[in-house]
Amino acid sequence: MVKLEEYIPIVGQSIIDDLKLLGEKLKGKVIQHVNSTAVGGGVAEILTRMVPVLKELGIETKWDVIKGGQQFFEVTKKFHNALHGRKEEITQNDFEVFLETSQKNIDELDTSADIVFVHDPQPIALINKRRDNKWIWRCHIDVSNPNQKVWDFLMDYIVKYDSAVFSAPSFSRQLGIRQFLISPSIDPLSDKNKSLSMEEVDAVLKKYAIKKDKPIITQISRFDRLKDPLGVISAYQQAKKYIDCQLILAGGTAVDDPEGAEVLHEVKARAKEDSDIHILLLPQNDIEVNALQRASDVIMQKSIREGFGLTVAEALWKGKPVVASNVGGIPLQIKHKYSGLLCHSVEGASFALKQLLSNPGYAKKLGENGREHIRNNFLITRHIKEYMLLFLSLYYKEDVVYL
Ligand code: UDP
Repeated sequence: MVKLEEYIPIVGQSIIDDLKLLGEKLKGKVIQHVNSTAVGGGVAEILTRMVPVLKELGIETKWDVIKGGQQFFEVTKKFHNALHGRKEEITQNDFEVFLETSQKNIDELDTSADIVFVHDPQPIALINKRRDNKWIWRCHIDVSNPNQKVWDFLMDYIVKYDSAVFSAPSFSRQLGIRQFLISPSIDPLSDKNKSLSMEEVDAVLKKYAIKKDKPIITQISRFDRLKDPLGVISAYQQAKKYIDCQLILAGGTAVDDPEGAEVLHEVKARAKEDSDIHILLLPQNDIEVNALQRASDVIMQKSIREGFGLTVAEALWKGKPVVASNVGGIPLQIKHKYSGLLCHSVEGASFALKQLLSNPGYAKKLGENGREHIRNNFLITRHIKEYMLLFLSLYYKEDVVYL
């Protein structure tokens, strides 16, 4: 149960007052979020926290997850990679698989809410069920350089929405519908981000047999090639030649990501016999993720492509120095040499690791700046306020109000 008042010491009274005011204006409207997985990945992470807060604000909010089999999610993962600019062979059969599952969801899902908020490409075709309600397409991925074939396919659906939302300015595209820039957020009160005692942190390290005798570098991510876990290992190995340290690569799985097992296998093979590399397959356990982030000396996010990168915000909120790639939404969170270090290569990442591990004062300062940057820009309260303004804007046209 989320209590709005608990956010006041973190963000201030006036922000909570704004939320309540906007909540009043939206009373009576039903909002329905739709995505493709209830657990795993950033979208599920955000919705898990956002839906209860919207309810607490008095807005009737539902969250539905589309259904799909392995074949469907293999296709949507291909779309995901292709939209991120990775080379993928997309066949006519892929589109057919996508359309067949989409049709089943169209037939089965009730989308009669006042505002239907569709996340990412997987459920995008639901728009074909549109009646006289409002529809938003929320794109969480970096589509600045997409595979044209997949993008053209999606465009036929996107143009039927009222509005689109992107996470970063560089992701926006010519669409012919209204678009909004709204960055994701983290919830400082969630199990993932709330403060933990030293004992709680130590208990998790003990559970995974990780000693505190060497500095800990950690990357928490689904086992996905775009998160570059092999690059993380290489950067760690290079840094370790100079400073003895250990590496945690922790990740879970998501229903809509079928590549995980294969990537995990590659990671294990690369880590070989190095007992200072801890590969953890986490069950969905937010306290454990929180504890591992807090136990770390440096957090990495060496993604090749990234939507926003919630893991970066999570680490910065915990005051941790972060080394992350200069891709997607990461540079919104990290101002190089101010709230973390950005890198462009394995060598750059290992150089940054060495810098931080050998200079704890500098590392601490970056972490502190990072925490304030997240407080001011990437907490759930700002995110919800922007979503509520977006919802209200759907009922305004020129100077006329349709509430
Ligand atoms: N996460 C988790 N357990 C894992 C791996 C990731 O809880 O084993 C969480 C992570 O803490 C973050 C989210 O999943 O909250 C991933 O979001 P992000 O934007 O970093 O990446 P995405 O998976 O959406 O590409």
